Amino acid sequence: MSQILEARDLKKVFGRGGNLLRASSLKTAVDGVSFSVAHGATVAIVGESGSGKSTVGLMVLGLLDPTSGVVEFDGKPILDARGNHRKELKRQVQVVFQDPFASLNARMTVEESVTEGMIIHKLGKNAEERRERARVLLSQVGLSEEALPRYPHEFSGGQRQRIAIARALSVEPKFVVLDEPTSALDVSVQSQVLNLLRHLQKDFGLSYLFITHNLALVEYLADEVCVMRHGEIVERGTVEDVFDRPQHPYTKTLLASIPSPDPDHHALHTY
Ligand code: ADP
Ligand code: MG
Repeated sequence: MSQILEARDLKKVFGRGGNLLRASSLKTAVDGVSFSVAHGATVAIVGESGSGKSTVGLMVLGLLDPTSGVVEFDGKPILDARGNHRKELKRQVQVVFQDPFASLNARMTVEESVTEGMIIHKLGKNAEERRERARVLLSQVGLSEEALPRYPHEFSGGQRQRIAIARALSVEPKFVVLDEPTSALDVSVQSQVLNLLRHLQKDFGLSYLFITHNLALVEYLADEVCVMRHGEIVERGTVEDVFDRPQHPYTKTLLASIPSPDPDHHALHTY
């Protein structure tokens, strides 16, 4: 399978307290991170809070420039993207964050949130066509069209995350960065949203970078997993390899902290 995304030797150094010249004020958040994502596949990045996962996600999204290293999307470096290529990248690579309020404007109706990207990227000829597309998207994420005139605060956390997913998909992306997409949700709702993401991936041929601190969630969605610690990938492999034959002590610790499987565990796969 060919790769849709390739990250090579990514490094990000943040300055602390505004003084970039003093070594003591520098923080290396990401150091030498490389991975690739095949078309239609999911790569998970797992690690505890502060390990550099979101920083990797932001660099993949082109929202943060790496200190060094390269991100290539469809074989082309994203850093050099200009004009139409840049606009295309902004359409093809979308994100769902942990907090839907970060991606949903509280003052915008669901219809406005879900159609905003269509307007920017000229999808749908007119308001009626865009509204129809919004209706279809809402049903694809399990919401009714009655959501259209409503505001984010009128929905539960899980419903808001569904709206954020509909918004991300509204511009027909190829690649979605999922940064802790279910971490703010109750456990039962988490599995529903993960299942939804799996189904959407299949239906739309999406590729995912799935960022999570919770290794237990990885096997529901990911094909491959990279374990991050202190800005570096300490272990990587297929989900099966990493779960069944962890090599790094840190991975073993993460695995040991997963609660023992509950009887409903496999229900997730058959949902
Ligand atoms: P994670 O998503 O794994 O919790 P982050 O990528 O958010 O980790 O952060 C990695 C490290 O980089 C942390 O030590 C964090 O404090 C630091 N960091 C993240 N963003 C910034 C920033 N904009 N400025 C300074 N330090 C940052
Ligand atoms: Mg994070």
